[in-house]
Amino acid sequence: MYKTHTCGELRSEHVGQTVKLAGWVHRRRDHGGVIFIDLRDRFGLTQIVINPANVSADQFKLGESLRSEYVIQIEGVVTHRPAGMANPKMATGEVEVMVSRLVVLNSAKTPPFVIDDTGRDVDENLRLKYRYLDLRRERMTRNLIIRHRFVKFIRDYLDARGFLEVETPILFKTTPEGARDYLVPSRVHPGMFYALPQSPQQLKQLLMVAGVERYFQIARCFRDEDQRADRQPEFTQLDLEMSFVDREDVLNLIEGLLTEFTEAHAELHGKRLLFKPFLRLTYEETMERFGRDKPDLRFGMELFDVTPVTRGSEFLPFQAAHVKGICAPGCASYTRKQTDELTEFARKNVAKVLVVLWHDADGIRNTGAGAKLSQREKDAIVTTAQSKPGDLIMLIADNDRRIVNEALGELRQEMGTRLGLADAHVLAYAWILDFPLFEWNAEEKRWDPSHHMFTAPKDEYLAVLESDPGSVRSKQYDLVCNGYEVGGGSIRIHRREVQEIIMRLIGLEMEDARRKFGHLLEAFEYGAPPHGGIAPGIDRLTMLYCGEPNIREVMAFPKNQQAMDVMAGAPSPVYDQQLKELHIRLVN
Ligand code: ASP
Repeated sequence: MYKTHTCGELRSEHVGQTVKLAGWVHRRRDHGGVIFIDLRDRFGLTQIVINPANVSADQFKLGESLRSEYVIQIEGVVTHRPAGMANPKMATGEVEVMVSRLVVLNSAKTPPFVIDDTGRDVDENLRLKYRYLDLRRERMTRNLIIRHRFVKFIRDYLDARGFLEVETPILFKTTPEGARDYLVPSRVHPGMFYALPQSPQQLKQLLMVAGVERYFQIARCFRDEDQRADRQPEFTQLDLEMSFVDREDVLNLIEGLLTEFTEAHAELHGKRLLFKPFLRLTYEETMERFGRDKPDLRFGMELFDVTPVTRGSEFLPFQAAHVKGICAPGCASYTRKQTDELTEFARKNVAKVLVVLWHDADGIRNTGAGAKLSQREKDAIVTTAQSKPGDLIMLIADNDRRIVNEALGELRQEMGTRLGLADAHVLAYAWILDFPLFEWNAEEKRWDPSHHMFTAPKDEYLAVLESDPGSVRSKQYDLVCNGYEVGGGSIRIHRREVQEIIMRLIGLEMEDARRKFGHLLEAFEYGAPPHGGIAPGIDRLTMLYCGEPNIREVMAFPKNQQAMDVMAGAPSPVYDQQLKELHIRLVN
């Protein structure tokens, strides 16, 4: 063994022991003819001392040759640091190791950036190109540890409840979740393609038909879609499915899992739960109150409705069918320039009109819209907004209520961030329930499934499924936390007739449906049990537990925002011979 202890392990109780350590030179200081090195491995840092009094001249010379990131092994005696020299910030800060033997195991080029946590501002592509160096940072190591603990906790929790972890194929057939498929050409079947699963959805449902009853998998999913901060071409879900359950069973299981993990590992991640039990909101309520189906519930600033007040107003924007707003505390100090910025922000979210009212000590300021409204209107708005002197009232008016809600939802989120209203140590988990089963796709003139087409309608809507699809609510549930959707699932359709109606409604020709999903439809004829499941996103959840701003920080080797691996250089061209074998000719 190269080491008797890790670099995070030595304490006062080890004083007097001869130990061996191995790791990387993290930092080196020469002080009064003595060399001090912080030696690093994954477990921590230990100060080692190379003193000419304890080592030969050759060994000391070797010590002088050490540079950052050299890999070394040392042997020495653990001693107390001299009085007043202990470092309380270091776990091993009370001791140091007096080196008696030094071995250089490997040298290292000067890294392209310093390996410590101050280096966060390093260009992300550079970090990704040298990811193996980036991962040496304490913070990145911590992220890997939290992720590992989380997944281990999940496995133990589900194992204790009778779940089986089953692997499903990566080379499969299209399993739509609303993105494009990644396709893999077949060499042995010219002109044919596998599709990488956007999720194991079909397979987990087939496992229910197979009688597995309680399935889970830490599953890789592949979705070819435009990149965003919390998206990656491949990502990991806790994919889960259960038979003979209703919505409550699935919600309770996942709620228990996350509550227990949060509490059992609070020391590791430093987060606490805001809602216990998790808050529950219907889709409609969350859109009305927060303007988003993934609201950040760590702060209030709820949307209010002034439509009844503004009805019949002389003020042109208020002649829209819906007028709602938010009240930003303490923002009456905002300048015109700042509010113009917010107007621009609202426009990006397709709201045409943002009306801004400044609430001063003696009421709504008489400028802009404030000068055009009647006193009665202003009073009523202040009352509805519950605004106080010093606040800024922002109102959005539109004939489409959805636009009003959604634009305000984004504005609320933006203001929450600007004002630092959300506590970074809090996790505000909530369930969003009773989603519409379909969304109208105006372009294609058809109904799209809000979740995916295997989601069951609520029983009371079965009768109007075909006559009034827009009114149908589903057995979908989403789990949200701190402004992110962190998981979604549903109770499924388990009867072929119902599945076929849905396929028809979403415009899947029966022939096409059979070609794509014939195996599933057929399976449903062999005694499919009632079943349902969910798929919380491991990356997003880990990101929240780690307090990171995006999921790339919690993946060992993520793609960059252009979906490229800049370390290995992927995607990359292939040899003509490979294309030939695959029966593929490139167009240009
Ligand atoms: N397959 C779904 C998804 O990936 C989750 C589920 O319905 O279980 O979002």
